[in-house]
Amino acid sequence: MPPSETDELFDNSYRLYQLKHILIDLRRHQYYLKDFYKPVITFNNITPPHAQYYDWTADAFYWIPYDEWKRRTDNALLHTISRNLKDYETRGTPPNLEVKWVVRRHTFNWEDPTHVRALINNYEALKNYMGDKLNTYGYTLLLDFDRYRKMANLSPVRDYLLQQKLLNESYTDTLNGLEARFNIRYNDNHLSTIYAKEIPQKIANAAARHRLLLETPPDELKKCHHCGAMLPRSNLFYAFNRSRRDGFSSSCKECERKMRIARGG
Ligand SMILES: [Zn+2]
Repeated sequence: MPPSETDELFDNSYRLYQLKHILIDLRRHQYYLKDFYKPVITFNNITPPHAQYYDWTADAFYWIPYDEWKRRTDNALLHTISRNLKDYETRGTPPNLEVKWVVRRHTFNWEDPTHVRALINNYEALKNYMGDKLNTYGYTLLLDFDRYRKMANLSPVRDYLLQQKLLNESYTDTLNGLEARFNIRYNDNHLSTIYAKEIPQKIANAAARHRLLLETPPDELKKCHHCGAMLPRSNLFYAFNRSRRDGFSSSCKECERKMRIARGG
């Protein structure tokens, strides 16, 4: 039998190694594209107490009145697949006819802190449910979360608090643990603000920084005077500073943070 094209591609191990890396890179690019440019639909479906029961492995759907279906299918911008009612599942009879509207997958905007907050609140349920469903959108969300959590570079205290939240620990246990480990005392109000606003915002910012870093052309980057990192000229990377010509501080936020800590801040 003559060798096939595939045989030739794989005839030496170095070539195989190269191909493997090209494939890995392609997958990574595909991943970034998926991550950043998928359209954002509403996040209504992922709020307690429904999250446990939500089917993360399938497309989402909801029932809409016939008039609403008509309005949507008439809207060219929605690129409706079919305008024929027969192609849709329906229930009820006129005038109470309802049509099943399928949304291709749940979408999630990492740069929206309310989305991040909802995910944190449902993390435990989602993890229990998705643990063995590796090739699903819900599972990818968990992986993305771990990645952005790392990128957010939370302080040890914030990271501990987040961990407690992900494990669904009670406020009392968390506050006691905080005192035992870090000798810091917070009250319930402070803790719920950290959970509702601060941590989701930090993770959303990490996602926004990640996107901006990949999107900004190299010649538009600004060099940090302190660490030399080339970073986008944006408030996500540099603090505003009116005395500078370009309006941004000369050191990146990460360097300023380290300097603050070094000064005992
Ligand atoms: Zn720097």
